[in-house]
Amino acid sequence: MRSTIRLGKIFGIPVGINSSWFLVIVLITFLLHSEFSLQFPRWNAGQTWVLAGMTGLLIFGSVLAHELAHSVVATTRGIPVRGITLFVFGGVSNIGHDARRPWVEFIIAVAGPLLSIVLGGILMGVYWLTSNWNNSVYIVALTLGLTNLALGVFNLLPGFPLDGGRVLRAIIWGISGNYRLATDVSARIGQGLAVFFIAGSVSWFLLTGEALRLWPVLIGLFLFSAATSAIRELRQRDRYRGVTAKQVADAGCVVVDSAVLVSEVVERHVLGQSQTCFIVSDRGVPTGVVHIQTIRAMPKELWGANTMGQSMTAMDSLPQVEPDTSVADLVDVFEDDDPPTAVLLASGGDIVGAVTQIEIDRYMKTRQDLGM
Ligand SMILES: [Zn+2]
Repeated sequence: MRSTIRLGKIFGIPVGINSSWFLVIVLITFLLHSEFSLQFPRWNAGQTWVLAGMTGLLIFGSVLAHELAHSVVATTRGIPVRGITLFVFGGVSNIGHDARRPWVEFIIAVAGPLLSIVLGGILMGVYWLTSNWNNSVYIVALTLGLTNLALGVFNLLPGFPLDGGRVLRAIIWGISGNYRLATDVSARIGQGLAVFFIAGSVSWFLLTGEALRLWPVLIGLFLFSAATSAIRELRQRDRYRGVTAKQVADAGCVVVDSAVLVSEVVERHVLGQSQTCFIVSDRGVPTGVVHIQTIRAMPKELWGANTMGQSMTAMDSLPQVEPDTSVADLVDVFEDDDPPTAVLLASGGDIVGAVTQIEIDRYMKTRQDLGM
């Protein structure tokens, strides 16, 4: 997410704040200030502002705790977390990749709302115990308790991309074994929920005339776009399914000798034939791969000095698949945190080609242009 300020790390997970979040903290502080002024009419403005500001920051802490619950569970399940960003609609955990098993997806998704609800329950307990005191503790506990409960319950709504939608997806996936169906169902419910939010808040606004009632419209739009892109991604996967790695590789890789200079390859194959991927062979034996990205990253002065053999990534450090592997499966490999430069196609121990994300994208683009 752009314009994000990094705060530091918690449990080894980088935490950042998007600039849009400052809008919310100001708005929340204003709302809390007007609420607290009614509750404590004898307090001076300074006291209510300080209490409102502090409560606002604790709400921020609650959202952060929710996201940390997701991220910590993901980390313990071996799924890397790139970081947590707080933004205008709350928080988002940038988890390296989707869970490969339904049970893992289930516990990662459920951890956030569960923590919020438990935290909310504890805070409501504190509110109950302190409600006879004539001070500010109970009002802070009540505000935070309700916020955490709302955060937990709202996120459990069963539409993707909400946590509840992920939980539903994990359940359908677990029962049917069909990830595609599970995503499709939960994302469509997500779209439905989004429409419901938008319609609901517009009607509420029309009835009350209060502009603040329109806030859920933005949340609805945000949810709708996330649910829709999940469905679009499924369609994309469907298109990949019918294409094999061999088809893509045929459109991309050429074999060159390891003694050939990078500059010659650029001249003959890259400029001449728009090739992007080269299998480096040493006296007829394939030993490594050079991809156009490697050439691009290399200073131009070195093109005339380095041979392909010196520039290659060794074969044995790259993953190998059968040539008839579906491109849908290769996409997972490239979406990993530490994606390989290329995936090699091996048939009976012989390397017959190599594929990178660039060839996949180009092949799919050509098919699309041809209306296939
Ligand atoms: Zn969550």
